[in-house]
Amino acid sequence: MSRVLLPQQIDNAAPLWGALAHRLDGQTMGTTWQVRWVALGPLPEDRVRAAVQQELDLVVNQMSTWLPNSDLECFNRASAGTQHAVPEAMAEVLQAALWLADVSGGAFNPAAGALVNLWGFGPRLRYTDPDFVLPTNEAVQHALASNDWRSLCWDGALRQLHQPGGVLLDFSAIAKGYAVDRVSRRLAGMGLQHTLVEVGGELRGQGMHLGGQPWWVDLEAPPMAPGFSVLPTTRVALHGLSVATSGDYRRVYTQAGTRWPHTIDPRNGRPVGHGLASVSVLHPECLWADAWSTALTVLGREDGMALATEHGIAALFVQREADGNLSESISPAMHALAD
Ligand code: AMP
Ligand code: MG
Repeated sequence: MSRVLLPQQIDNAAPLWGALAHRLDGQTMGTTWQVRWVALGPLPEDRVRAAVQQELDLVVNQMSTWLPNSDLECFNRASAGTQHAVPEAMAEVLQAALWLADVSGGAFNPAAGALVNLWGFGPRLRYTDPDFVLPTNEAVQHALASNDWRSLCWDGALRQLHQPGGVLLDFSAIAKGYAVDRVSRRLAGMGLQHTLVEVGGELRGQGMHLGGQPWWVDLEAPPMAPGFSVLPTTRVALHGLSVATSGDYRRVYTQAGTRWPHTIDPRNGRPVGHGLASVSVLHPECLWADAWSTALTVLGREDGMALATEHGIAALFVQREADGNLSESISPAMHALAD
């Protein structure tokens, strides 16, 4: 059984007869990227590759926590009381992230870097390192004291950010989606209208594939042990739409009998533990799909569904039930896309 989701607006401009399908891939942000497009005429692949690489590099150079000299890491190292000029792309992401931090009551928090590091998911001591130990309550309280996004006093008009001291930014929950948007827009600017862009599982589709077909994509499903019931596949026509999935099965470790996934609840300083296996969000912009999927994962099924409903966000929640099976909940905006 499968469910099919279609966008509400369809632009019928299919690729012309004789168009060819192309595909390029590579590595970025500790993961892979892939770009597919359908076009007539000879646009050299190396020109497309160079353009994609330029957009991805721009995001990494400004926003990576893994690059010691990224703008974000320079801010993270800065002394208390300093003001920082924020480059345009980073400002765009920061602005979106701060808005969602307010709206979600801090469930999404771009200033949660100290907590992310503490639980072994940052660039410093990793949970995979042999000397990694679970943080003490004291360490959690200490990191919690430095994750207030409001203390950044963001001035959007001047693009100035204040480092109150020890606040560590982490854009990993939103920057991949933003990178997908940038690549997609750049390709459109080169005249490519029929594109599918993917970075580390976050996707954005524009136009159509060959034969007037949309770019069909199946939502990522949590892996299941044999013997448990299988959920229906959800197939989406990514036509002017993006999709992002946050899951508790990616980058997770088990210690002291508990699963510690890489999504942190910045309100209590601990990895989320309310049994959501995954949240997928559909949105025209991949930045928002990415950020909302993380925010809703932190909020959990009930609070997440309430916020998604309030903001008209198309979301699919997959919950781990006590008997080991998975169950699904679909927000009204996602219901509206089901055929
Ligand atoms: P995603 O896979 O998009 O859900 O992003 C997860 C990554 O975002 C983690 O590896 C952390 O670096 C960071 N992160 C974890 N929890 C949060 C949170 N509550 N708000 C913002 N970023 C977070
Ligand atoms: Mg995300």
